[in-house]
Amino acid sequence: MATELHETIFVAKQERHKNLFLNYKNLKNFPVELLKDEGLQFLERLYMKRNSLMTLPDNLAQKLPNLIELYLHSNNIAIIPEAIGNLARLQSLDLSNNALQMLCPEIGRLRSLRHLRLSNNQLKCLPPEIGDLQDLETLDLAMNQLISLPDRLHRCLSLQNLTVDHNLLSHVPRQLCWLHRLNQLSMAANRLTFLPLDLGRSRELQFVFVDNNVDLKGLPSYLYNKVIGCSGCGGSSQALEGDTAEALTEALVGLPAEVKVIGAQMDNVVPLEELAMRTMHRIYHHRPAGLNLLPTIILPKSLLDLLQFPLGHCHRCSQAMFTIIYPKLFPLRDTALAGVHRRTTVSFVAYCCSSRCLRTFDLQG
Ligand SMILES: [Zn+2]
Repeated sequence: MATELHETIFVAKQERHKNLFLNYKNLKNFPVELLKDEGLQFLERLYMKRNSLMTLPDNLAQKLPNLIELYLHSNNIAIIPEAIGNLARLQSLDLSNNALQMLCPEIGRLRSLRHLRLSNNQLKCLPPEIGDLQDLETLDLAMNQLISLPDRLHRCLSLQNLTVDHNLLSHVPRQLCWLHRLNQLSMAANRLTFLPLDLGRSRELQFVFVDNNVDLKGLPSYLYNKVIGCSGCGGSSQALEGDTAEALTEALVGLPAEVKVIGAQMDNVVPLEELAMRTMHRIYHHRPAGLNLLPTIILPKSLLDLLQFPLGHCHRCSQAMFTIIYPKLFPLRDTALAGVHRRTTVSFVAYCCSSRCLRTFDLQG
């Protein structure tokens, strides 16, 4: 086997191969032949799936400087070296089915990276630097132990496909609603209790899978015309009988902490705190360019975050909302999607900014 391997690499080196297949070779270590002398300067794709590698060499980028795709699916890799960040041309990295417990921040230096696959590892968190991957289109994090996603993920503006199935997520950062190229979001089998109010507001988002999040009882009504998977959500169906206040409360369990009031159809006046936030938001976002009447707004970070990324926008009039929401429930069985999701007790929830918008909102409209 060793001779055959030596031969394969020797030929690749001599003939300046761009692709090298070393799958199923029972390798415990990265072959030294790949790293000797000047390495393989012409190599663009390296396939090493189903071996027994435990780590990667520090001088990988130095010896294989033109790597575009690196496939390391199904090894025993527990740690990737910081030097991974030097693979300047790398576009595709597959580390699925390994033993990763953490990811070094240097991953954020892979500025050409378009596809990152990390499913079936033991990741508990991700470095915020993942948000530096501006060209990232695919991020697969299924089957890890993530309890949250980094807030900076919303800076990955090229992201089209995000998969986080089978993790321990209890919420989704609402900043993700700002990923305007996101087309598919899959978060099945987590511990989600609510989804960001704005989820689905982007036209690009067409596929949302949240199946088997037992405590997820409401879906933002923006998702009404999308392809959604939500079987196994909703838990008990009792609470959703009839459009009662009880049903609403039950459906809204787990709203973000910033929600202080849940408005009802009878309220005519929006609370003062909410009005203040809306005014501040208008000033913050719509002050005329070049007109610096106001000093930089100094606010606690939590408030500043809320101003930058409001809880959501009114499903009726698109006004930003901060501390109060006026919800309206549309049980799934009353909608056109009922036939598709026969076994679910989930409702669509329209979140409005005032009792007036609440009264006039209709799902079809
Ligand atoms: Zn409104």
